[in-house]
Amino acid sequence: MSSAVPAGTVVAMIEVRDLSKWYGGKPAVDHLTFTVRPGRVTGFLGPNGAGKSTTMRAILALDRPTSGSALISGVRYDQLTEPLREVGALLDAGAVHPGRTAANHLRALAIAAHLPRQRVDEVLDIVGLADMAGKRVKGFSLGMRQRLGIAAALLGDPAVLLFDEPVNGLDPEGIRWVRGLMRSLADEGRTVLVSSHLMSEMAVTADELVVIGGGRLVAQGTVSELTAGHGSLEDAYFDLTGGHTEYATSYPPGVPR
Ligand code: ADP
Repeated sequence: MSSAVPAGTVVAMIEVRDLSKWYGGKPAVDHLTFTVRPGRVTGFLGPNGAGKSTTMRAILALDRPTSGSALISGVRYDQLTEPLREVGALLDAGAVHPGRTAANHLRALAIAAHLPRQRVDEVLDIVGLADMAGKRVKGFSLGMRQRLGIAAALLGDPAVLLFDEPVNGLDPEGIRWVRGLMRSLADEGRTVLVSSHLMSEMAVTADELVVIGGGRLVAQGTVSELTAGHGSLEDAYFDLTGGHTEYATSYPPGVPR
């Protein structure tokens, strides 16, 4: 794989600034600010419903923030000139046409993004699906769909990668594989944001953690920084998120209804 950050390019960072997103009178994300830097795996940790997917959707311009911003290399995702070459994302592994073969699914994405066709074979190889290239996705296990989703994220060889709960549905071997992949992507200088509600997984996968609860930032730091004074990351997680999972029930001033 080529170097992700050639000399002279803008450093690929994800910058979430005072981001809020409201749904039906409740904040899913509430004045959230954090930065994700290259060369490390940043774990995005929080209980189910904490606002991780909503934040990732805002970073990918799939949802419009109620207020605040989410920028990649200083611009909104929808302002990127070649988005698939700049950002790869795994959000919902189920979002693939079941009648398509794995290779055809990736080929369609490659054609739409003007990416070289040989890249399809390369990414199928990277995710261990080369033997399944000609098989229809409807016969795939959730773990195989996760691998296919990761292959799609890697297609454009992007410097920034977002993975939403990538180990869901994977067996222990698959989980180990994802962990190794995240590590090598970060070691290549890429910016890697990976969400999980599993603190044990994040403790061994991430270099740095962004912990959220109830849509708000509760902590950001290295695993050892966050664990300090709490006994274990598990204790830290419950201490940090315990009081933050309730949502406000009214709109703050200035929030459109
Ligand atoms: P996480 O990814 O941490 O599990 P989400 O971002 O999916 O959390 O959800 C945060 C909150 O926002 C939850 O209460 C969820 O029900 C709500 N939410 C997310 N998306 C929508 C939507 N499209 N419409 C209404 N509520 C939503």
